[in-house]
This record gives sequence, C-alpha cells and structure tokens, in this order.
Amino acid sequence: MAVHDARTFDAIVVGGGLAGLAATQRLAASGLSVALVEKRDRLGGSSALSGGWFALSGTAVQHRAGVADAADIFLADMVATGGGFADTSLLDALVARQEHAIAAIDRADAWTEELKVSAGMTIARAHLIRIRRLLAHLEREALAAGAVILPGRPADELVTDGGRVAGIRSGRAVFGVDAGVVLTTGGFSRSRALLDLFVPDQAAAMPYGGVGNTGDGLRMAWMLGAGLADVGHVAGTYGQHPDATDDEHELLTANYLGAILVNARGERFTDESESYKVLGTAVMSQPDGMAFQVFDSVVRARSRPGVPLSDMERIEALGHLVDAPTLSELGRKVGMPPGALERTVERYNDSVAGREADPFGRTGLVNGVGGLEPVETGPFYAYPAVTAMTSTYGGLSVATDTSVQRIDGSRIEHLFAAGEVVGGFHGASYMTGTALTKALVFGIEAADRIAAA
Ligand SMILES: Cc1cc2nc3c(=O)[nH]c(=O)nc-3n(C[C@H](O)[C@H](O)[C@H](O)COP(=O)(O)OP(=O)(O)OC[C@H]3O[C@@H](n4cnc5c(N)ncnc54)[C@H](O)[C@@H]3O)c2cc1C
Repeated sequence: MAVHDARTFDAIVVGGGLAGLAATQRLAASGLSVALVEKRDRLGGSSALSGGWFALSGTAVQHRAGVADAADIFLADMVATGGGFADTSLLDALVARQEHAIAAIDRADAWTEELKVSAGMTIARAHLIRIRRLLAHLEREALAAGAVILPGRPADELVTDGGRVAGIRSGRAVFGVDAGVVLTTGGFSRSRALLDLFVPDQAAAMPYGGVGNTGDGLRMAWMLGAGLADVGHVAGTYGQHPDATDDEHELLTANYLGAILVNARGERFTDESESYKVLGTAVMSQPDGMAFQVFDSVVRARSRPGVPLSDMERIEALGHLVDAPTLSELGRKVGMPPGALERTVERYNDSVAGREADPFGRTGLVNGVGGLEPVETGPFYAYPAVTAMTSTYGGLSVATDTSVQRIDGSRIEHLFAAGEVVGGFHGASYMTGTALTKALVFGIEAADRIAAA
C-alpha cells in the first residue's frame, strides 16, 4: 500500500456503531490505514442503545444451558421469519461466518449466561451480550492498531473517480481512499421523510433509534445508483413507553413471559406470541395507537432485572408500571370501560384451560413456544406501550461480500456497506438479535474483503 497523507487512507468507514467499529478494528488489525468518521460527537448509534441481544447458534452458552441448536435450524428459522422475502444467500453467509462474531465477543469478554427464545426463534438462541463493553473494546483495539477515529465528522457525499468510489466529502474536507469506503451509517428510523416515502402506513410509530440515523448512507449510495431491498417491510417495534427519552430505551415484552395485550377498550386483539414487529403494526391500529401489557403476579415474578425486554423493576422504578389488587381496580386505574378487563381475562383464561379455542390463535408464550398460564393471581399489572420505530431493516442492496450493488445488480466499485443500512437480510419480519449479529459479522466481512483486494 502507498504511504498516505493525513487525508488519504486505504479505507474509510462512515458511522461508528457496531458495524463501523467492527470494520474499523478489522481493517486496522489487517495493517491498513483507516479512518472512521462519525456524525455525532460520540460513537455508538443504535448499537449502544440496543438491548444487546445477539442471535447465534452452537455457542458455549447454549451448550452449557443444554440447548441443542445448529446452523441449519438457525437458517431455517430466519428463512421462515422473512416470509420468503429475505435474500437467502445473505442468511447463508451470516450463519457461515458467525464464528467471526463469536470470536470478537470472546476477545471483549462480553458474554453473559442470559439465553432466551425470542421473536422468530423455535429454540433459545437470543444471547445477551454486554454491548457497550463490546463496542468499547472494539474501539480500543482499533485505536491501538492505528485507526483514526473522528467523532463530530459527518460524511455528506461519496466522491467518485471514473465510476469507482474514491473518497468522501465532509463539509469542505475531502478524504480519499485507495481501497474502499464502508457505509455503516445505520438505518433511517429518525428520518420522517424516508419513513413517509417507504412506509407511510407506519407514520404513527414513535421515531426512535440512534439520533444520527437519518438514512445518510442510503441516500449517498442511492445517488450512485444503488439498489434497495426490503424497504417496504420496515415496521415499528411494539413495547416502548410513550414517555421514553432519546438515549435510553424502555422496551418491555411481558407478553413473551405470559402477559396479554389489551387495548384502551379493555379488549384483546391479537396473538401476543407474534414477533414484536408484527405486534407493532397491530397495535398502531388500536385506539390511541397503544396497548397495555396486562399480567398477574406470576408473570411479574418472571421479571429479569437488568435484562433488556424483561426488566420490570426498571419500568417500575420509572413509575411506568400500574398495579392494583384486583382486575376491576386495574381497569379503572387505566381508564378502561367498567367490567371490560374482567370479561377479557375470563375469556382468555377459558382458552388457556382449553374450554374454548383462543380467538386469536395464541398457543404459546413466544412464536408458539412456552406454556400459557391463566391471568388470575393478584396483584395485577398494566404497562402502557406504543410502537416505536427503533430500527429500519430495509436498505441498500449488497452481495454476500458486502459490496453495494446498483439497481441492475452490478457492483459499485470500492463501495461496501454493513449493518442496518443494508437491506435484503430480514425480508418481511425480524428475528430478535439478528440485527446486531448482522452488523458485527458483515462489518468484519467488509474489512476482510477490502484487505484481500
Ligand atoms: C432500542 C433499541 C433496541 C434494540 N435492540 C436490539 C437487540 O437487542 N438486538 C438486535 O439485534 N438489534 C437490536 N436493535 C437494532 C440494532 O441495535 C441495530 O440494528 C444495530 O445496532 C445497527 O448497527 P449499525 O452499526 O448498523 O448502526 P448504528 O449502531 O445505528 O450506528 C450507525 C452510526 O452511523 C452514524 N452516522 C449516520 N449518518 C452518518 C454520516 N452521514 N456520517 C457519519 N456517521 C453517520 C450514526 O450517528 C451512528 O453512530 C435495537 C435497536 C434499538 C433502537
């Protein structure tokens, strides 16, 4: 490689979330000169905000828990979750390369023993990883290997030279590259304009995710003729308190622990074991676009303090969990019509006891897995929650080597993309943990492809 001046590098990575840090670390460790530009004054993006759940198969954590998972079951679950719309070559590549993600988590010593079945899974495959520790470790490793990290430095435009990407422009500065630019700018959950363009039916979802995630990478590559995939399937996630603040999420999925979802009229309206993306769309069509997660003390005792999506202590400490000794008192406290909640729970308990079929087809806690129990042991609880646009799993069309493809399938030379800016991976719906796994696996892959060129 040539010797570079301060503004020319072998590679530039745009966006400092998990995909960007993984790519930067790997590029620097391969001996390439690399700069990471980040729009905000701090790194992290949605990755730092996330629950930290990673979908992985065949891990030591699963082994210790006696869970017999395998790459082919993982793949089959992802294909089924995508409803036939996901690009199976990308899913194959993820499964084949998950060892890279496992190795990075090992190096950061970021594992926990938390393992669960979550949306889209037929087996316990969601691993809770100490995500902030992983991000910090990747950053430290990248810096130690000589990477240049530039917060507060947004990329505005891709610079081209004879059809290949030759750098980026940031304000008045131009950074040149010899080998490639990696777009890791995250999704567009904070862009009202792009959400309105691709999924106007999701307009009621609360904008969320990393504050810098306004679809910049998508627009920059789009300007060069990049193709798009899955954008029509973007959907919000159900389970966020309406008063959640920007840099802390407040997601709870007590329904996967046994809660039922009840609208403001006191009625159930859906199979609560469905993916929280499917539930997100169902909840938006309910009165006030919200639904309560209603449960009893048996489900309350299943709370996992410190475990994202299952941490009721945190919700309670924030004053957002309503409780009452009886169902009628609970219904009254949250403003439901008198008697409605009792009737709904009685009917649900009848179907749990097998006296009638569940009108919404619920047969398990999550994705059909896990036994149901009646809602009957007080005190009773209600968590009011809305649909939040936490992430947008549609975006740039890429090949399995992460090179960005034009709308005709040809490659844009020297342009790579990884993480949430990429489409084609999830298809119609989303398996918990695949977004972080995808960001880590394909961030590393983009670096390896550039280093191998
Ligand atoms: C509340 C919440 C919980 C979640 N929980 C999970 C979970 O448990 N498991 C899971 O798999 N997924 C989860 N997700 C989704 C997951 O976090 C994201 O899909 C993933 O972190 C995306 O990683 P990324 O590196 O692609 O993007 P990000 O981590 O979002 O990073 C993108 C970065 O690019 C920067 N950027 C944007 N534009 C520019 C520009 N022009 N120039 C320079 N920098 C730019 C942004 O500021 C940001 O720092 C969750 C998301 C949210 C919001």
